[in-house]
Amino acid sequence: MTETTRITVARGDGIGPEIMEATLRILDAAGAGLGIDEIHIGERMYQAGHTSGIPADAWATIRRNSVLLKSPITTPQGGGYKSLNVTLRKALNLFANVRPTRAYTPFVASPHPGIDLVIIRENEEDLYAGIEHQQTADVTQVLKLVTRSGSERIVRYAFEYARAYGRRRVTCMTKDNIMKITDGLFHRVFDEVAAEYPDIAADHQIIDIGAARLASQPETFDVIVTLNLYGDIISDIAALVAGSVGLAGSANIGTTTAMFEAVHGSAPDIAGKGIANPSGLLLAATQMLVHLGQAERAETIANAWLCTLESGLHPADIFRSGASRRLVGTEAFTTAVIERLGEQPRTLAPVHYRSGGISVAAAPARTVDKAMVGVDVFLDWNEDGRDPNQLGRLVEAAAPPSWRLKMITNRGVKVYPDGIPETYCTDHWRARCVPSEDGAAVSFDHVLPLLAAMHGHGLHVIKTEHLYTIDGRAGYSLGQGE
Ligand code: NAD
Repeated sequence: MTETTRITVARGDGIGPEIMEATLRILDAAGAGLGIDEIHIGERMYQAGHTSGIPADAWATIRRNSVLLKSPITTPQGGGYKSLNVTLRKALNLFANVRPTRAYTPFVASPHPGIDLVIIRENEEDLYAGIEHQQTADVTQVLKLVTRSGSERIVRYAFEYARAYGRRRVTCMTKDNIMKITDGLFHRVFDEVAAEYPDIAADHQIIDIGAARLASQPETFDVIVTLNLYGDIISDIAALVAGSVGLAGSANIGTTTAMFEAVHGSAPDIAGKGIANPSGLLLAATQMLVHLGQAERAETIANAWLCTLESGLHPADIFRSGASRRLVGTEAFTTAVIERLGEQPRTLAPVHYRSGGISVAAAPARTVDKAMVGVDVFLDWNEDGRDPNQLGRLVEAAAPPSWRLKMITNRGVKVYPDGIPETYCTDHWRARCVPSEDGAAVSFDHVLPLLAAMHGHGLHVIKTEHLYTIDGRAGYSLGQGE
């Protein structure tokens, strides 16, 4: 990159200004040649009445520069405040959350000395769209959205990341043995994209056993890519088992903007004392340099930092008698890193990054052959002791001749026809209706009279889902027992 690369910097709250000063000193000494535009976000902005902690003019600066290096901020207690991180993530379409986790034994104690992995979490989709409903007395639901384009983007990012950081394997984690359509899509896209990266090994693990292995044998993982909720959970598992949260940086990557920060908070208890460890923000800044295409400088800084850990000059949070030699404050630690620029660590494995940055093009728009083959009509029904046979007869009596009731399910289990009496039934039913004539074409024009007839017979329709074939394959799951 040229000397003119401009980045946005937020010094944050608590220890934020101290660790940012240290980080910028090191970037400068390494010759990163960055132009800095500062924005003010966080506690003072919340107190000034900005409910998300960010004033309007800061947005223009963030948008103008492609990256934001951010110190932690203090979130005020009490209601009425919105999380600044969630606001930034949503507004800037930061689709990937990237969290490297590594152990630095014997210099920093860790229960898993061999751990050196990265979790790449999809950040925008899955269950986090917040589309939830309660439509009956008994039943609540949430919509889980997984897109082909979103899956392709995050999976491709994971493979590009693996290449840029010299990593050898990408593991995908899903629950596609149960969620065959949503998680199944993510897994399928993973297999397709993996085939384009023959230099990187690829495997898939079901999330439950994958999470258990991550907790018990974290050293067996390299890069993990997964959906939003699973990523949220396993990021915390990895952070805990590594024992080095205080040293971790993280990145949130978008198509036009990326944000880099430490994983820890603003540590108000030690603010202004000159003892904060700047390592988390510094490692986030090295991720930023790789992202910007300055892989060599990132490598120089990361290796100098590893040398500093090896030297035993340790800030208070990682100081341990035996492994540490001298207790140092923020400034002395920073100077120690600068003095070691150009050196290679001897015990800890040195890092090696590939230049060129990481960029992922948007997935191409696709067209599919889509045909409607039926409809699931959801009903709120709480009568006749919730006897499925009774409801089945009501639906059959209501349906116009062109429609046939294929089955009724309750919480996904087929209860009509030929259900088993032990199945517990709630007040939330799905009536799967298909054309009476096998293979007849159906459209929304046919669905409307079906719904009107059900409504006319006193059935409470709460929602519908159309059944489509997509490129000839069923775009819907079968009921258990269908
Ligand atoms: P914290 O991470 O700030 O502090 C936890 C403990 O770790 C404290 O004892 C602290 O002194 C220590 N610590 C943290 N970072 C350190 C460092 N770099 N060097 C030495 N010691 C360090 O967590 P918290 O106390 O739960 O949160 C404090 C504030 O930070 C809260 O307002 C919280 O909302 C905010 N927070 C912000 C972010 C962010 O901006 N991304 C993330 C987490 C928490």
